[in-house]
Amino acid sequence: MYRENEGADSEHRMMKTGRLFVLSGPSGVGKGTLRENALNDAPNLKYSISCTTRKPRDGETDGVEYRFISREKFREDISQGLFLEYAHVHEDYYGTLKADVVRELEAGHDVLLEIDVQGALQVREKMPDAVLIFVAPPSVEVLERRLRGRGTEAQESLNVRLENALKELALKDEYDYIIVNDDLHSACEELRKIIL
Ligand code: ADP
Ligand code: 5GP
Repeated sequence: MYRENEGADSEHRMMKTGRLFVLSGPSGVGKGTLRENALNDAPNLKYSISCTTRKPRDGETDGVEYRFISREKFREDISQGLFLEYAHVHEDYYGTLKADVVRELEAGHDVLLEIDVQGALQVREKMPDAVLIFVAPPSVEVLERRLRGRGTEAQESLNVRLENALKELALKDEYDYIIVNDDLHSACEELRKIIL
């Protein structure tokens, strides 16, 4: 239920709408891996593709992993109020388009966002029924190993991500659920149960 428009809110309640799930956690913890599994397991679950000002990594395609947009366009979209939430994360901007989420929920689909903690807390303010799920690593050492093992980040970007990880971990108790991603199969099963 989106709070900026109470008229739409009451109409919204009459319809069979989907549920909104928000997945957060430090970079490299396994959110993308868990998300892929959840999308395979739950046919009614749709992933909302975020906008970002970061440059695509090798193998990433505009409109698949993200909508890759310029800072100028991002600022324009902010000023037009198009974002449900947005945040400055690891030196770039990331945001979720409100229209994308509302369209899917109203079509009766569940929606999954994979966003940082600042964004998750904004979503909770606007859509209090959203289910907030935090993915935590078994330890900071394991997190660093996974992030290095993924091989996508240069040293500087890796350091920024590890510093931010500690800030994100400090906010995990704000979430409805915490999944420790140690054994991947168990973590996927926990997420599947929450969603279904
Ligand atoms: P995020 O999306 O949170 O940044 P990824 O899903 O890209 O993280 O995972 C980071 C790396 O850790 C990837 O190489 C992934 O294959 C690996 N990984 C994810 N979950 C586990 C797990 N439970 N055990 C071991 N490796 C994992
Ligand atoms: P990456 O650059 O590794 O793809 O993502 C970096 C971080 O940005 C991750 O923590 C991810 O959850 C977060 N992120 C991705 N999309 C969004 C979004 O739309 N909004 C917010 N607030 N964070 C996002």
